[in-house]
Amino acid sequence: MDKNQIFSDDEQYIAPTYARFRVAFERGNGCILYDSDGREYIDCGSGIGVNIFGACDEEWKAAVKAQLDEVQHTSNLYYSYPQTRLAGLLCRKTGAGKVFFGNSGAEANECAVKAARKYGNERYGRNEIITLKNSFHGRTIATLSATGQDEFHKYFHPFLGGFRYAEPSMDGVLACYTDKTCAVMIECVQGESGVHVLDEKFVKELEKFCRERDILLICDEVQSGNGRTGKMYAYEHFGIRPDIVTTAKGLGGGLPIGACMLFGKCAEVFGRGDHGSTFGGNPVACAGAVNIVERITDSLLLEVQGKGAYFRAHLGRIKNVIEVTGLGLMIGLKTSKPAREIAERCLDKGLIVLTAHDRVRLLPPLNISKSQMEQAIKILKEVIEQ
Ligand SMILES: *Cc1c(COP(=O)(O)O)cnc(C)c1O
Repeated sequence: MDKNQIFSDDEQYIAPTYARFRVAFERGNGCILYDSDGREYIDCGSGIGVNIFGACDEEWKAAVKAQLDEVQHTSNLYYSYPQTRLAGLLCRKTGAGKVFFGNSGAEANECAVKAARKYGNERYGRNEIITLKNSFHGRTIATLSATGQDEFHKYFHPFLGGFRYAEPSMDGVLACYTDKTCAVMIECVQGESGVHVLDEKFVKELEKFCRERDILLICDEVQSGNGRTGKMYAYEHFGIRPDIVTTAKGLGGGLPIGACMLFGKCAEVFGRGDHGSTFGGNPVACAGAVNIVERITDSLLLEVQGKGAYFRAHLGRIKNVIEVTGLGLMIGLKTSKPAREIAERCLDKGLIVLTAHDRVRLLPPLNISKSQMEQAIKILKEVIEQ
């Protein structure tokens, strides 16, 4: 396909909500993507953390194709083997009691908000949720309301009430805490706002504070989950046990799926009719996700930690790099140049990187090879030092 035709059709027909880079990827293989001119790129974005084992991974594809040959959709009016298999796997891996499936991160978080409000309303008449400044929880009205960034709170008034935005510290949370607080929602690694890892002492204190008051602790692991940080879920780095965990992005390995995992006292919060989704837990997406989750083993997680350390060590030595943040293969880079400019110049040189606020962000597929990492670091060095 001629790329200029794609660009002009996009301009004519697609609602212009995205600041797209001028490239159309046509196909891929592992950590390599090819554009409409057949040009090759190393992928350190994974389609924003989605293609967790890269493009067209053979094992994942086989699982998806096998389900496509069975049936593509049946509806949540009936039982579903791919869905129960995935839910069982997630519960056994995490200790969750129950799972609700949606189709995206925002839907997983919507579910968490509903679960927290029902839990709080029924027991105590509480329904306020504290979220953190610089958080990102999604693009629906409820999840935008939950998102603690002013720039997202333009144009679409009225937003949903019942959210308070705290500085990421105990003092910050205490300043927002009222007798109506039913939950606190955090990203252990704040992705969209620049790959900021929360302070461990704060997260531990917050867990204790919540537990003592029967306030639910919700971890949004939409981006940081599914092995991305070198643990199955990033909260494991902090030694805490949340009540609700949401995830999406990497879970489906490339197909849309979101999950809201309900732990312990929350497991029984929903009853018949409380929530639902037509597409949620689609059998094809679930069959792919089963393959992904089964492959996130302890040895893979160790590899991810090693690769993360490798990136960090080399990126930290690049001139003009001010700070390297993140955990595992969720990496933020603060440099003296605008992040967008770096991303564009990397793309020109055949490397895909993301940005997050003022940072360059790397979310490479977890199976990126040593030579691909070396090549990526080389291009980043050229671009950032130039
Ligand atoms: C991407 C993201 C979301 C939103 O996910 P969608 O699938 O785009 O709805 C929510 N929370 C976090 C932390 C994210 O990174």
